[in-house]
Amino acid sequence: MSADSTKYAEKIVRRAAALGFERCGIIRVSAMKGYGEALAARMARFPETAPMLRNFIPFADPTEKCPWVKSIVICSRRCGVYRVPDNLGGMIGKHYLFDERRDAGSDGYRDTALFEKYMTDELHLQTASGNDYGITACRWAAKEAGIGVIRGNNFFYGDHGSYYSLYAFLIGEELEYIHSPLNNTPCPDNCNLCVKNCPTRSLAEPYAMSAFKCASFLTNKAGEDSGFKEHGAEIGGWIYGCDVCQDVCPFNKGELTGEREFNGLAELSAEISLEKLVAMDYASLRNLLSAKFWYIPPDEMWKWKRNALNAIANNWEERYADTIMLALRDEDERVREAAAGAGAAIGRTFL
Ligand code: SF4
Ligand code: SF4
Repeated sequence: MSADSTKYAEKIVRRAAALGFERCGIIRVSAMKGYGEALAARMARFPETAPMLRNFIPFADPTEKCPWVKSIVICSRRCGVYRVPDNLGGMIGKHYLFDERRDAGSDGYRDTALFEKYMTDELHLQTASGNDYGITACRWAAKEAGIGVIRGNNFFYGDHGSYYSLYAFLIGEELEYIHSPLNNTPCPDNCNLCVKNCPTRSLAEPYAMSAFKCASFLTNKAGEDSGFKEHGAEIGGWIYGCDVCQDVCPFNKGELTGEREFNGLAELSAEISLEKLVAMDYASLRNLLSAKFWYIPPDEMWKWKRNALNAIANNWEERYADTIMLALRDEDERVREAAAGAGAAIGRTFL
């Protein structure tokens, strides 16, 4: 790389740091080739997930959609610094609680916009950044840039465990800035805590996860004819996402500091409980949840009630009896069915 290119890359990395990103690296777009190979191996290992995983094939070569792309800027930002509201721990996954991608009031949303503006307006780079689901495979790009590693539970780990948000930007300039990860100690040979504790056995072995069995997929994407019923009892108290394979990991020990409040989360959490979700009318559910937790679209609000009823059945207390009875009269048949299923699971008939 020429001295000019090095200066350019250093400017980008410095601005990212000034905006609060923990690390920023830059890779050539060709470094994503290995992602395509890893994806092909995943599809061969779990063929039932291939129709979904095929959607990610373009991530391995962003030049197919954007022929001008030469490099990828990838930035990490800690989300483990935010406080998990007491009532939502073990219920909603932390990456979802601290999701900044659509949250215009969040620091990450603001800073990614400022960062991209800097690259376009001040450095005159052609750029493109992700839509909601990203523009390339962020974890792979981050690993290639050396801003962290991918561990056996398939999550990206930076210098402070796995609770990070990653942001990718495609740029039309050939630049490179590769780090040496501070904490690149491999997973210990004898550790299988993430695999052993995965409630749905979705994580079959390190680096091998069947998405369709993962509680995260089941709680927010799975429809009525899916594996949700098969795995409902295993999902336990989770109603949107799952953190088990990260929370049990020794590399996350002490890394959740909870020193900061996430934008609007304390107020929102006061409106959420299993009983409230089941009792809420559909318009209120949409208003309350669909912008923040957007993996469940506005016309699928019934899933929140199904998931809450499943969690109730898995953590039964007598105080939930009225909630089940209410759900048996819900306007949505799928919720009534979930309520009947919850009653059956605890061996009770509610009239
Ligand atoms: S998120 Fe939960 S269900 Fe999915 S692989 Fe991890 S532990 Fe298993
Ligand atoms: S729990 Fe063990 S095997 Fe799994 S990611 Fe953490 S260190 Fe690696």
